[in-house]
Amino acid sequence: MAMMAKIKKISLGNWMLIGMVLGFLLGLILNFYVTNPFIKDVILIDNVFYLGGTGFIRLMKMLVVPLVFFSIVVGVASISDIKKIGAIGGRTILIYLVTTALAVSIALLISSMIKPGVGLNMIGIAQGNVTTNATLTDTVLNIIPENPFSSLANGDMLPVIIFALLIGIILAKLREETQVVNDFFTQANTIMMEMTRIVMKFAPIGIFCLMARTFASLGFGGLLPLAKYIGCVLLGLAIQAFVVYPSLLVIFTRLNPIQFFKKFISVMFFAFSSSTSNATIPLNLEKLSELGVSRDVSSFTIPLGATINMDGTAIMQGCAVMFAAQAYGMDLGMTALLTVVFTAVMASIGTAGVPSVGLITLTMVFNSVGLPVDAIGVIMGIDHILDMVRTAVNVTGDAICTIIVAFKNKSVDLDIFNGRKEPTETWDDITQF
Ligand code: ASP
Repeated sequence: MAMMAKIKKISLGNWMLIGMVLGFLLGLILNFYVTNPFIKDVILIDNVFYLGGTGFIRLMKMLVVPLVFFSIVVGVASISDIKKIGAIGGRTILIYLVTTALAVSIALLISSMIKPGVGLNMIGIAQGNVTTNATLTDTVLNIIPENPFSSLANGDMLPVIIFALLIGIILAKLREETQVVNDFFTQANTIMMEMTRIVMKFAPIGIFCLMARTFASLGFGGLLPLAKYIGCVLLGLAIQAFVVYPSLLVIFTRLNPIQFFKKFISVMFFAFSSSTSNATIPLNLEKLSELGVSRDVSSFTIPLGATINMDGTAIMQGCAVMFAAQAYGMDLGMTALLTVVFTAVMASIGTAGVPSVGLITLTMVFNSVGLPVDAIGVIMGIDHILDMVRTAVNVTGDAICTIIVAFKNKSVDLDIFNGRKEPTETWDDITQF
């Protein structure tokens, strides 16, 4: 009885870790049999794992189009406050997009140097096809949906995103006139978030099957590439958090990054342990107030950032694309790389700030350059740990951009920021737009 209660208490994240470790160990054992010419009856087990793993990937694929579509429509429609908030809105969105583009570029650069996927031959594991790169003109033209419904049906994400952005902007503009449709999209988005939560409950089983199948085929040889992939993502995240953000802070505000991190580190830990930017919003707001940032700015920019600004997620996606491309022996040309940057920025907008969603929107980045999404199965096993770290970076990006925007708006009390004055209750009242 007590044992059951203990098992029930294990969090989903820990179940994923358990699935990963058990799948990995079983995979290694099976690999011994696969490579042993006298034993041939592992095929049946392979089919069971294929069913469990690919079944889970299909469930994730099922979510992508509606999840991204509704999330972008609702996200953009709610940015109608931009008008109220004036220049801040445009500036915030611009900084959010630029930092994400920078993040994914760093990831591409790091993983093209470290080459995590080289030495991992995945062609035998995955079922999808590797397609060739499209030309730049094609890529640009393909962004414009000829028929949005066929794009939705085919899962062509870039035209879907453009269509979703347009609907969101128009909903924001027409407001009351389209309130019913607005409510419909908001509720549809809630339904998709709930469906994501339910699908994720199956993640431990999916991860177990995927890990077992991957390592049954790769054996110990799969370890090094995976470790290199983890290294790439962590390095990218560290550069973004401790080089890019402090530099931006110094360049645009001349504020001391150490002062920032001293107060902000607790927010990073909270995001790390919860793996959700959304749940971190209240703490983020509180710490920014303690840093002297006016709530007038942060109460708009932080929730917005938790929805559309995912620099850490973009770093994981950049590394994952390179990892898979290298493992498939696919050479990504300049056009494909630009497509990855663009799609990852869009994916960041479409990624909800809850655990593991970055993995779901990763499928759209893979699709944009014709990589088989089955490759995601290999990295899925270890994604939970990376999700924790990248969420910490996601929320740090939101806070840094907020400080920059607030500083330009004269909405940062420098004495409070530098610890010369205690944060005051009345701070909100004395700031002005
Ligand atoms: N867990 C991330 C966040 O909430 C999203 C993701 O990358 O899965 O920020």
